[in-house]
Amino acid sequence: MQKIKNNKMKDFTLNSYEKLLRKIGPRDCTLLHYLKNNDSEYIIRHDVDKSLGNALKMAMIESQYEIKSSYYFRVKPNLFNKNIINKIYNLGHEIGYHYEVMDKAKGDLISAKKLFGEEWPLFKEWNSKTVAMHGNPLTSYNNLDFWKNNKLSDYDVKGEAYLSVDFDTIKYFTDTGRGWNTSVSFKDKGNKVLIKVYSTNDLIEYINKTEDRYYIMTHPQYWSDNLIIWIKIKFLESIKNIIKRIIKNKLKH
Ligand SMILES: [Zn+2]
Repeated sequence: MQKIKNNKMKDFTLNSYEKLLRKIGPRDCTLLHYLKNNDSEYIIRHDVDKSLGNALKMAMIESQYEIKSSYYFRVKPNLFNKNIINKIYNLGHEIGYHYEVMDKAKGDLISAKKLFGEEWPLFKEWNSKTVAMHGNPLTSYNNLDFWKNNKLSDYDVKGEAYLSVDFDTIKYFTDTGRGWNTSVSFKDKGNKVLIKVYSTNDLIEYINKTEDRYYIMTHPQYWSDNLIIWIKIKFLESIKNIIKRIIKNKLKH
C-alpha cells in the first residue's frame, strides 16, 4: 500500500493525527470525563458519519497512546455496527449517540421524539450517557432544535456535545469540511469563536504556545494514510465545500 509522507501539503493522515496524540499524551479526553470532573484539559470527540473502519483505526491508535475519547454513532443500517462499536468500547473509549432525529422526521417534533425514544435506548449496551447532534449541511433542519422542546433529563442524557459544554472556557477545533475550523463548518458553529489553524502541525503549535483547554472534534472518514483514498476524500470534500458555501450564502440572503 502506498503511504503518504507527512508534510504540510499532506495533512489529515493517521500519521498527522498520531503527532497530535503525542502532544496530548495519556489522559481521559471523553466528554463524560469533562462533564463529571472539572479538570479536563482536552475533549476529543469523533462523529462517525461514515467509515467505521477508520473510526476503529483511530480508536486503536489512541489506545496505544493511552488516550480515551468519545465516539458518536448514527443509527443507520451500515453505520450502526455492533461489532465495531464493541471493539471501540472495549478499547476504553466512550460510545455515544449521533442523533439526527429532526432530519429523519423532516422537522416533525412528534416523530422526532418517537425516534429519539427508540434509538437512544439502543446505546444502553455501551452504558452511553452522552449524545452529539449530526449536522447534515444538505438539510434545512437543525438537530439541536430537538432540545427546544425536550430536556436532556427526560431521556436520562447526561450531556450533549454542544449544549453541555461551556465554549467560553474551551477552544473548539473541528475538521468539518476537512480543514481545521473552516468557514464551511457552519451548522455546528453556534456562537463559538473559531481560531484559524491551517494544518494539524499548526494546531499542535497553537497548543504548545497557549495555556488553555481544547475541544478537538474529528470525522474519522477524513483521515487516511492510503494515497488513493486520501486523494479521493480531498477531491470529494472540495466539491462538498463548494455546495455548502452555496447553501450558506442562500441561507444568508
Ligand atoms: Zn455527523
